[in-house]
Amino acid sequence: MHLKVTLHYIFLPMNEPIKKIAVLTSGGDAPGMNAAIRAVVRACTYYRIECVGVYRGYQGLIEGDFELLSARHVSNIINKGGTILKSARSNEFRTVEGRVKAHNSLKEAGIGALIVIGGDGTFTGGLRFIEEFNFPIVGIPGTIDNDIYGTDNTIGYDTALNTVVEAIDKIRDTASSHNRLFFIEVMGRDAGFIALNSGIGAGAEEILIPEKDLGLDRLVESLKNSKEKGKTSSIIVVSEGDKIGKSVFELADYINENFPFYDIRVSVLGHMQRGGSPSCFDRVLASRLGVAAVEALLDRSTGIMVGVTNNQVTKVDLDKAIKMNNDISLELLKVAEITSI
Ligand code: ATP
Repeated sequence: MHLKVTLHYIFLPMNEPIKKIAVLTSGGDAPGMNAAIRAVVRACTYYRIECVGVYRGYQGLIEGDFELLSARHVSNIINKGGTILKSARSNEFRTVEGRVKAHNSLKEAGIGALIVIGGDGTFTGGLRFIEEFNFPIVGIPGTIDNDIYGTDNTIGYDTALNTVVEAIDKIRDTASSHNRLFFIEVMGRDAGFIALNSGIGAGAEEILIPEKDLGLDRLVESLKNSKEKGKTSSIIVVSEGDKIGKSVFELADYINENFPFYDIRVSVLGHMQRGGSPSCFDRVLASRLGVAAVEALLDRSTGIMVGVTNNQVTKVDLDKAIKMNNDISLELLKVAEITSI
């Protein structure tokens, strides 16, 4: 999508104060989304504006599935995984007709601004909406993948990492008891943050990520070396989007043919990585970003995402947040290689 204007700080007419802000969660759910909703609702209460919860993301926006939320509506949710507002993927919102309906719903409810919590798809939809209706929107990064530019961490990433490390620790117990080689698939179609960091944290022998094609030869070589060094069990963490070009099961079959002495098993962690009570880090991050998003709208910012970089709350154009990449750290790749010797 090409934007003709820079959206950072489009100023709204000063004679139209925002009296009502809506908040929605969209795309894949992530632990900490509830903490973000709670912070948005309570910041609205603090600044004496009304807050409306939109159920089921953009689909609920189209259908006017709204509920006025008070500070008490969000009691006891800071520790809960998932999202009380539900999330959805809405194909209708991808159409102009759908977005016109959504705009009408907002106007009818007297809502003056919107906070969207989600990933890059959610932000892309939000940008379209701003372009078409000049409606004020601020984004909060909520996705376990950590693949959003302009924030050191997305909400949910830290919890997902801890969940994955805990799971790998358990698998390691059984791997070492039976001298097994385990391939563990973790989430991350386009980004290897979960694989790389959980792999280092759980002491994996090899980590396969989408950003770097290590190739089959390198994997085979590494396993040969491990065997020669006397390693009896091994953990290989594989990101969903790894570029070797084989599924984790095909990869395991291939290695099995070449290393018949290994007892090979595959474990796909799947949706458990999205669930669970958010870590303290994610709760604090979500609380900071919820407050920052409300304050940004009250400062008349739109078309931006709030993030935390170097422990400072920052604003970045939604356009940049979507298009630019959060690069994988070369230092982490080196640490993974050195510590798996
Ligand atoms: P995650 O990273 O966890 O998958 P996400 O926000 O990227 O989260 P998506 O399913 O890609 O999740 O997007 C969420 C919703 O945003 C879509 O269901 C759709 O309603 C809206 N959306 C995405 N892309 C567009 C687009 N190009 N135009 C309009 N709306 C869009």
